[in-house]
Amino acid sequence: FLRGRAALVTGATSGIGLAIARALGAAGARVAVNGLGSDAQVAAALAAVRDAGAPEARHFGADLADAAVVETMMQDLADWGPLDVLVNCAGVQHTAPIGEMPAATWDKLIAINLSAAFHTMRLAMPGMAARGFGRVVNIASVHGLVASVNKSPYVASKFGLVGLSKVAALEAAGAGSRASGGVTVNCVCPGWVETPLIEPQIAARAAAHGGDRDAGVRALLAEKQPSGRMSLPEDIAATVVFLCRPEAHNLTGAAIPVDGGWTSQ
Ligand code: NAD
Repeated sequence: FLRGRAALVTGATSGIGLAIARALGAAGARVAVNGLGSDAQVAAALAAVRDAGAPEARHFGADLADAAVVETMMQDLADWGPLDVLVNCAGVQHTAPIGEMPAATWDKLIAINLSAAFHTMRLAMPGMAARGFGRVVNIASVHGLVASVNKSPYVASKFGLVGLSKVAALEAAGAGSRASGGVTVNCVCPGWVETPLIEPQIAARAAAHGGDRDAGVRALLAEKQPSGRMSLPEDIAATVVFLCRPEAHNLTGAAIPVDGGWTSQ
C-alpha cells in the first residue's frame, strides 16, 4: 500500500529505525535512510532495506544535532522525491542525576531528540498538506508519558515530542480528504526495546547481578514493564506501518504506548 510513496526514517542505521525502514520498504515505499555509522554499517542498513523489498533505498547522513544540516538534508530530499511518510526515530540517551547532567549533554539531547523532529516536520508537512496525504510518526517513548529518575533531558525531549506532535496533528487535521488519505501525526511510545541504545543500562544492571546479562534484563523489566518481555524493533515497526495505512486517516494526535503495561500502572 506504500508503492509509489517516499519515506524518510531518521536514525535508521540501527535498532528501531532500521526495522521501521525495512517494514516501510516491505510495504513498497522508497526509503531515505538517515543515521550515523561506519560505511559498513550504512551499507548493511541500505542492503537490509532493499532486501525487505524497498524499490529504492538511499542514505542521507545528516547529523541531526545541527539544524542547518537538517535543513540541507530536507532540501536534498525535496529533489529526491516529495515525502509522503516522515518517521523521526533518531534518539540518544544519557543517564545522570540532574545536578550531574552536563549542560552540553542537555543541549545535544534536546537538539537530536526534539528539535530535529521540529525541523523535519516544518520542512516536510506543508508539502504533505498541499498533496493531501502525509504520515508523520514520531518515536517518542514511555518517557514521553511518565518520568523516571536520571533521565532529565531524555524525558523532557520526549514529553516535548508528544506535545509537538499534537500541535502538528491539529494543524494538519483538515488537510486532504478520505480519498487522498489525509495528513496525520502520531507518536509511538515504546517501553523497553532490545537495541544498542539500552545496552549501557542493561550492563549496569548486569553488573549488579555478577555480570549476568539475562538477570540484568529481567531486573529492568521487573521494575517497570509488567509483561516481563522486551519488545523487538520489528514490534514497534508494525505499529508504525499500521499508522501509515489508508484506514488510519482519522488516527491522529495520539501517543500510542507499546510498553507491556508500563504506563497503565
Ligand atoms: P539505536 O541506538 O539502536 O539507534 C539510534 C539511531 O539514531 C541510530 O541510527 C543513530 O545513528 C541515530 N542517531 C543518533 N544520533 C544521531 C544524530 N546526531 N544524527 C543522526 N542520527 C543519529 O537506538 P534505538 O533504541 O533504536 O532508538 C531509536 C528511538 O527509539 C530513539 O528515539 C529512542 O529514544 C526511542 N526509544 C527506544 C527505546 C528502547 O528501549 N530501545 C524505548 C523507547 C524509545
